[in-house]
Amino acid sequence: MDHLIKDIVFNYSYIALYGLTFGYFIILYFGVGTLFLYSCKLLERKQILNKVIAIEVSKKQIAFEIKHSIKSIAIFGFSIIPIIFLIRNGNIELLPNTWSNVLIGLVILTIWNEVHFYIVHRLMHKKFMMRHVHKIHHKSTVPTVYSVFSFHWAEALFLSTVPLIIAPFIPFSIVAIFLYPLVSILLNFAGHCNYRYGNGKGQNWKLFGTHHNEHHSKGRKNYGFALHLLDKLFSRHNP
Ligand SMILES: [Zn+2]
Ligand SMILES: [Zn+2]
Repeated sequence: MDHLIKDIVFNYSYIALYGLTFGYFIILYFGVGTLFLYSCKLLERKQILNKVIAIEVSKKQIAFEIKHSIKSIAIFGFSIIPIIFLIRNGNIELLPNTWSNVLIGLVILTIWNEVHFYIVHRLMHKKFMMRHVHKIHHKSTVPTVYSVFSFHWAEALFLSTVPLIIAPFIPFSIVAIFLYPLVSILLNFAGHCNYRYGNGKGQNWKLFGTHHNEHHSKGRKNYGFALHLLDKLFSRHNP
């Protein structure tokens, strides 16, 4: 395994790396996304999960979301290229792929993603960006699992820089960088699937997916990705 990883990082062409990354995000979006959706539906039948907004989203909306998500994935494919370039030039240092390095790396990347997403998202709500860029994501007033990458290409480009910005300063295991999109998309599905645990209301942590869902239905406040700490800190949280 280690031999294959080394081969990919140091020997694969940039075109092959783009193809691998594009394919990986397609599997995450369609494969893991469909599994996530069917798990939600199953748990809804068992009355463990409930819809946040009890409506059936139109096929037209889902087609719109899938079309824009594929465009975003085409952008995400490029995200690996500068990372590998900097690794090959010695500007990004890699840690050995031990369990602890992978786990700690994923935690740091998830926390960094929360800060990165918050900054980008607040920027996206500035008048110009909202009108020309972020409006695509907000077309989904009731989000679905397919909304997760439904972005204007410029927003996809901003959001694809999460590991690139931090990796030159904090060394990670390459496996943590590879697994991070899986962790991120699972949190993303939870925020967009329009399901929440139980049928309560309010801010209980169990109602995890509610915050970002509300951001879509109300169009403002709750700018955070999953943790909402920054919204609370900057008083942008919807009670
Ligand atoms: Zn927004
Ligand atoms: Zn969203």
